[in-house]
Amino acid sequence: MKEDRIQLFDKTFKPYIRHEQIIAAIDKVAEEINADYRGCQDIPVVLCVLNGSIPFTGELLQRLEFNCQLVSIKLSSYQGTQSTGTVLNVMGLTSNVRGRRVIICEDIVDTGNTIVALKEMLLDKEGAADVRICTMLLKPDVYDKNEKLDYVGMSIPNAFIVGFGLDYNELGRNIKDIYVIDE
Ligand code: 5GP
Repeated sequence: MKEDRIQLFDKTFKPYIRHEQIIAAIDKVAEEINADYRGCQDIPVVLCVLNGSIPFTGELLQRLEFNCQLVSIKLSSYQGTQSTGTVLNVMGLTSNVRGRRVIICEDIVDTGNTIVALKEMLLDKEGAADVRICTMLLKPDVYDKNEKLDYVGMSIPNAFIVGFGLDYNELGRNIKDIYVIDE
């Protein structure tokens, strides 16, 4: 239906993943993380990759049943609708993670450049004891790294999406559902 479409700048997007489906995927991922960390003696770090992962991390955090600390980092590798391939460290970590177990919360893994560079940086430069990757969405057709993705909410085909934190030039992050570009 034409009315379902949304317009962000020059691009039109159509409904793709309903909010309820996103929440079900987060429930599943939270269960897996709880099974691995429940009863732990340390305080693992839940690392929110700003800005796109804010809604995902917020929902996930409420479902975690062990003591954990929320830390954020801001990176950037996307401009418009194409990954630039370079990961820029825009803003440092909001807290030290040396010696800590870290669970990275990412909105979406595309080529994997961002997540692999971030994991390497946390282990080599920041001295994290262990780093696991949790992503709400994965584009398996594009992901070309050997790095294991520990927790994956949902796999999707290679298309540009917005909503639930994901943006098109900073617009669309506030939309509850996920929309795909209408080409
Ligand atoms: P990668 O480094 O894996 O190629 O890209 C990861 C980052 O690119 C994500 O954190 C996200 O910010 C952005 N990204 C990848 N695919 C999409 C997409 O379909 N839509 C939006 N809005 N951002 C994306």
